[in-house]
Amino acid sequence: KIAKYNRTICVIFNKDMEAERKKYYRITSIAEEALKNDEFYFELQPKIDLKTKKTVGAEALVRWSRQDGTVVYPNEFVPIFEQNGFITKLDFYVYDKVCEYLLHRISHGKEVVPISVNVSRAHLKQDNFAKKVIRLVEQHRIAPEYLEFELTENIFLENSEQAKETLIELKNYGFKVSMDDFGSGYSSLNLLMNLEFDILKLDKDFLTDNIISKKEEVVIKSIIRMAKLMNMTVLCEGVETKEQVDFLERIQCDMVQGYYFGRPMKTEAFEECICS
Ligand code: C2E
Ligand code: MG
Ligand code: MG
Ligand code: MG
Repeated sequence: KIAKYNRTICVIFNKDMEAERKKYYRITSIAEEALKNDEFYFELQPKIDLKTKKTVGAEALVRWSRQDGTVVYPNEFVPIFEQNGFITKLDFYVYDKVCEYLLHRISHGKEVVPISVNVSRAHLKQDNFAKKVIRLVEQHRIAPEYLEFELTENIFLENSEQAKETLIELKNYGFKVSMDDFGSGYSSLNLLMNLEFDILKLDKDFLTDNIISKKEEVVIKSIIRMAKLMNMTVLCEGVETKEQVDFLERIQCDMVQGYYFGRPMKTEAFEECICS
């Protein structure tokens, strides 16, 4: 492509880029092996109903437990796996583990709450995402109300038709779908006009600290009202303090997720949250 225009392109390669490139190859080369060795697992972070203060759901978040005992967080590897395509495999590994977990709980008569999983934009480049997840839950005999899907708005910017169809297929089957990180990027309001999300997850950047300015209050309040008028449930992410909880309660946010009520945790610890 470049040659066609007959231009000379000078690429400046600095030390940071070199380090990035090395990291890319290092992580890419060990990913498959790590998956086979069961080094990936998920943690659950509680979602709290603000009216009852009860845990009414959870989000599954992937972690990588390296052989040297260190735990690596998704911001370190998800972007790389989105580039090399490995994320589609890893996500299905997570979905599979979540289904296994749910089935285990259900078949032992234990209490369960719906678990949401994250969907990488890489899936939407293939057109069978919805069918693949439907097959997965059918294999595990999991009812769709136990599993929810979190889609970020950038998914719709890149493969908009594919993404819309996927959303409709997921919803028709009975899964709930949330718009994740709302407000962090382009926040196309037209996405909300044209698509039916069940849950709107307000990005954690809306709550930067304890001081909520008048403007911030107006914006957050308005988003909550708008979402409710569209029959969506509103969940605020990144809630860390009592002040934030009080504020969100006052403006009638439905649910919250954040360190104040619970960090992402191993499944055993999470079970204590729903039993108590
Ligand atoms: P996300 O889906 O928006 O998940 C919420 C992130 O916010 C999580 O980070 C969570 O630990 C963090 N968080 C929760 N409460 C608080 C809080 O009170 N304060 C602060 N500062 N942070 C809070 P985490 O686990 O590091 O995940 C980061 C991102 O990686 C996720 O953002 C999601 O986009 C992606 N991700 C995580 N797991 C998966 C996965 O299985 N598949 C894919 N494709 N992406 C994943
Ligand atoms: Mg999420
Ligand atoms: Mg989010
Ligand atoms: Mg954010």
